[in-house]
Amino acid sequence: IKPTILVTGGAGYIGSHAVLALKDAGYGVVVIDNLVTGFRWAVPDDVPFVQGDIADQPLVETTLRDHGITAIMHFAGSVVVPESVENPLKYYHNNSAKTRDLIDSAVRVGIPHFIFSSTAATYGTPNVEAVREDTPQQPINPYGMSKLMTEYMLRDVAAAHPMNFCALRYFNVAGADPQGRTGQSTAGATHLIKVAVEAALGKRESVAIFGTDFATPDGTGVRDYIHVSDLAAAHVLALEALMAEPDRNHLLNCGYGRGFSVLDVLDAVDRATNNPIQRIMAPRRAGDPAALISDNRAIRNAFPWIPQYDDIELIITHALSWEMVLISRRIGSSA
Ligand code: UDP
Repeated sequence: IKPTILVTGGAGYIGSHAVLALKDAGYGVVVIDNLVTGFRWAVPDDVPFVQGDIADQPLVETTLRDHGITAIMHFAGSVVVPESVENPLKYYHNNSAKTRDLIDSAVRVGIPHFIFSSTAATYGTPNVEAVREDTPQQPINPYGMSKLMTEYMLRDVAAAHPMNFCALRYFNVAGADPQGRTGQSTAGATHLIKVAVEAALGKRESVAIFGTDFATPDGTGVRDYIHVSDLAAAHVLALEALMAEPDRNHLLNCGYGRGFSVLDVLDAVDRATNNPIQRIMAPRRAGDPAALISDNRAIRNAFPWIPQYDDIELIITHALSWEMVLISRRIGSSA
């Protein structure tokens, strides 16, 4: 019988995919989510659900003990970069301070393994073609800084207490469960593929292209888009690595190691629907690097991770399918 994992933020986008990956692999799963941005319906009916805050230590510690939890996968947090610039204290509260309390609860209960959603935003604007894990981390916004602080906390706690951890630094996560069980549902999305599929399906009039004068082949920003289900699979492998080698921690990029420009993405969405989206040239967004591409050799060496969906057309097809589910259920429409 496989252990039971507590998934924080399991009602959210990436967390809900991790819940499915864990269940599909035979693990027990318990979700805690405060439902500020998540959806109760995104959690399968047979998964115990605790509505509450990760910083509610009595609630978290009771949950950890009652369910005999072996590891925490921590997805709960705030994720909008421009919002973090406007409201940094929200990010230092939700992402850093509350995570400190969650880690404290984990230590008090003696949870041996912790898996953390970190981000390529911890690298800032790296001056390299492909970002390695030892590329200097110099965040350029409070979001990236709030996540980097948690990496530091985990490193220090793992050295002081019987816990090991894995921080996965996500590149640009997109797509949806290929079986259509969950997807990205939050209203008011700002991420390119989500915005583009909303426009393609008539939920928005147009897509703004934030900057056409970057030092990239076509002048638009280049990113390493990774399918959310490959990312979820990496979390299951991280769990298995932490259990197999309790003295070893991992800090790993999670991307495919290749990039697509904004125009590449919009062209692919247009091809998928055979109906061109209206494009509007717009100025650069504050703090956007020209290109952000992972070097993913470290995760491929550390885990038997074999991406299944490294295909921009497939990522977009799955995102479109999920958007159609949302439209039919009348949920998640945005501005
Ligand atoms: N982008 C864009 N229009 C949008 C949203 C994003 O041109 O409506 C661009 C953005 O400037 C960047 C890329 O798409 O070059 C990916 O941005 P996103 O917000 O998806 O992720 P980020 O890389 O900022 O985390």
